[in-house]
Amino acid sequence: MTRKLSAGKLVIASHNEGKVREIRELLAPLGMDVISAAELDLPEPVEDGDSFIANSLLKSLAAAKASGLPAMADDSGLAVTILGGAPGIYSARWAGPRKDFGLAMQKVQNAIEEFDTIEQKADRSAAFICALSLAWPDGHTEVFEGRIEGQMVWPARGDAGFGYDPAFQPEGYTLTFGEMNPAEKHEISHRADAFRQMVNACF
Ligand code: IMP
Repeated sequence: MTRKLSAGKLVIASHNEGKVREIRELLAPLGMDVISAAELDLPEPVEDGDSFIANSLLKSLAAAKASGLPAMADDSGLAVTILGGAPGIYSARWAGPRKDFGLAMQKVQNAIEEFDTIEQKADRSAAFICALSLAWPDGHTEVFEGRIEGQMVWPARGDAGFGYDPAFQPEGYTLTFGEMNPAEKHEISHRADAFRQMVNACF
């Protein structure tokens, strides 16, 4: 049975300040008192899972066990169909040590172009995926996977958002995530989808 989260302290298993701020704002109306793993000085586990769900669960479980409090984690990335789901769980790594997403978007473009033929351009469909998990200190977990489908566009357009946003155009829209007003992106994103599923099930 799905476990409900009672009002009170919740650890966000992330050392990324931007992510913690976004999650804190989303959870404030639900009566949750959010603390970050960084504020509690919790160690960061090695993300060696083979899926978004596995990585999300290993982060939320590590934080719940170390803190003795319920914990939430998110793991997300870009999955390009013709690349068999790459960069996938390696989305951050494709940007290299300098976190250069111009480079990461160029790598995705080069990899897709390899599939172009004289007769036909390669399939450019892709999705952003977000696995959001909750873990309790006794080891119980709940996990939700959100997604948004779209197309990779080239050249990339817009400078809003982050990561691969400028190269991703969601289905049914003419703007890329990089060109969209952030509020509009947050309404339709993979993270919003996972969040809605979690709130419906656990609050
Ligand atoms: P994580 O923080 O380990 O989950 O890494 C996720 C990576 O996926 C980020 O570094 C981004 O490159 C990419 N990513 C995830 N969500 C988004 C998004 O909404 N827009 C653009 N890139 C994203």
